[in-house]
Amino acid sequence: MSDIIQLLPDHVANQIAAGEVVQRPASVVKELLENAIDADASEIKLILKEAGKTLVQVIDNGKGMSATDARLSFERHATSKIKSAEDLFQLNTKGFRGEALASIAAIAHVELKTKQENDELGTSILIEGSTVKSQDVTVTPKGTSVSVKNLFFNIPARRNFLKSNTVELRHVTDEFHRVSLAHPNIGFSMYHNGSEMFSLQASNYRQRVVNIFGTKTNEKLVPVEEVTEVLTVSGFVGKPEFSKKTKSEQFFFVNNRFVKSPYLNHAINAAYDGLLKDGYHPSYFLNLTVNPKTIDINIHPTKTEIKFDDEHTLYAILRSSVKHSLGQFNIAPVLDFNSDANLDTPYNYKDKASQTPTIEVNSTFNPFAGEQRTPSYSDSHNRPSYSKTPPANWEGLYVGLESKSNASQIDFSELTFETEAKTSSIFKSDAVTQRKTTYQLRQKYVVSTIKSGMLIIDQNRAHQRILYENLLEQLTSKEATTQQLLFPLQLSFSNSDLEIVKQLKSDLEYAGFVFSEVNNEQLTITGIPVGVPESEVSIVLEQLISDVENDVPDQNFSASDLLAKSMAKSLAIKTGQTLNEEEQEHIVNSLFACKEPSVSPTNKTTFITLSVDDIEKKFM
Ligand code: ADP
Ligand code: MG
Repeated sequence: MSDIIQLLPDHVANQIAAGEVVQRPASVVKELLENAIDADASEIKLILKEAGKTLVQVIDNGKGMSATDARLSFERHATSKIKSAEDLFQLNTKGFRGEALASIAAIAHVELKTKQENDELGTSILIEGSTVKSQDVTVTPKGTSVSVKNLFFNIPARRNFLKSNTVELRHVTDEFHRVSLAHPNIGFSMYHNGSEMFSLQASNYRQRVVNIFGTKTNEKLVPVEEVTEVLTVSGFVGKPEFSKKTKSEQFFFVNNRFVKSPYLNHAINAAYDGLLKDGYHPSYFLNLTVNPKTIDINIHPTKTEIKFDDEHTLYAILRSSVKHSLGQFNIAPVLDFNSDANLDTPYNYKDKASQTPTIEVNSTFNPFAGEQRTPSYSDSHNRPSYSKTPPANWEGLYVGLESKSNASQIDFSELTFETEAKTSSIFKSDAVTQRKTTYQLRQKYVVSTIKSGMLIIDQNRAHQRILYENLLEQLTSKEATTQQLLFPLQLSFSNSDLEIVKQLKSDLEYAGFVFSEVNNEQLTITGIPVGVPESEVSIVLEQLISDVENDVPDQNFSASDLLAKSMAKSLAIKTGQTLNEEEQEHIVNSLFACKEPSVSPTNKTTFITLSVDDIEKKFM
């Protein structure tokens, strides 16, 4: 048989390499920004059109390239940054593979303009799909400008794989944040479709964080500084009370390079142990400086993963230095580095002076009086609510549900409430004049008797379902009623969070919000949906932003569905809330007036039933 192995032509090899380096516009942004930093630029400008799909341009004032280097820079494995394998172990530059420009030029239309400081004229090169179309002498300022147009023009499958502009722009913004946070001493700006999104002056680290994440970030930062033989830690962590539902403010930089490290992230979480509410994540912006010889950044083509020689030591140092900072700034009890975490004073007790125990007897205490532990649902119950009026008679609730086959296989005709049950006489006392039909269990479940046995409802999930269906109806009919605010509500958000609000603006308006201004980290609200208390507005919006961030919606997502789910989640009564009898009944009635009472908007079971048979079996 004849030989069959051939070397791939360069343009094919470049396209394959491009698959590793360039996944989306954000990858191009990262490579170009890093090249500009490696060229010692002090000002870097990023210009995008259509989230980078049609244009990513990076202009820097760095050292530029000679005409020969300009041409060579597009060759694969062409780099000025390392000369030998040893150099790999003492990297001080971002790039070193010499692959980025070659890969990008293989799958886009690229125009490069560059000039070195002492040259009169610069060079301009046009490359399309690895083919050099032209190379000219040109007039251009000192530095380099690279324009990448029509990404994946020659690979339709990759182009179609790209997400909506909203999603791609988020990736680009994330990348821009990472790079600009790692280099506060460089000025960065970003423009999208002609409008300025960020303008970051060269500054110190704190100012950089604040410029990116919004003015209100300033008060939440706690400095961390630790110098040890193996590691220097510097930067900021967020005060626990400002922790977020998303991990969008978690940044590790190792030798000025953004890295992802679940292990080190764990070290930070350990330092916050006991200070955070469930489901909340601390913010951190930390720079670690280590000897380049002790790390390997070569393990991943996009270089966000990193291998440390001695992870355990780094873990311990990081954990204790963060803990120490939280303690020093009076956020957590001050700790001796070697102290046993089990001996820590719980956070809640930090400001409390010790007291001699005393005994107080409340002679008027009535164990049967309603307890008020958390802000009760009843506070909000008097205000106009989202809930439908409960139908007058119990039996009527289940008409129309009977015929529907239900996922949870419950025969709703069985679900009639016991209207003629005989009250047991043993416990009958004068105090109990009215027979209760519902009970609350552990401030989590509403329990009721039904003809066939017993009904147990998860109060939070059920209320989410009720609110969700009502909200969805309002959003689709666009008939929500607004409650005008006497004093406009001013909320501050970071610009990228505001971007999300802007995208959902019309849906929020259908839900009943009225905005007078959405600009410059400021959201001014003049009207809110009836049923949403003013005090909850910021929670509702933050939850919404975090939901959009977490569950990055696709082109075909329904904004109203997401909004309804998110608002239902924020506004629903929570586990732990005491409900009075009226509220319990309201939950039961409204739940069974829903179209899909058996599951919450996120598809979790809202109620279960226990038949008398089931119960009897347990007594056998
Ligand atoms: P790498 O960054 O890994 O070296 P690239 O393909 O990104 O590989 O770039 C190839 C070379 O082109 C770089 O090593 C550098 O010499 C040169 N280069 C790229 N971008 C710039 C720029 N903005 N300014 C000056 N030189 C640049
Ligand atoms: Mg590079």
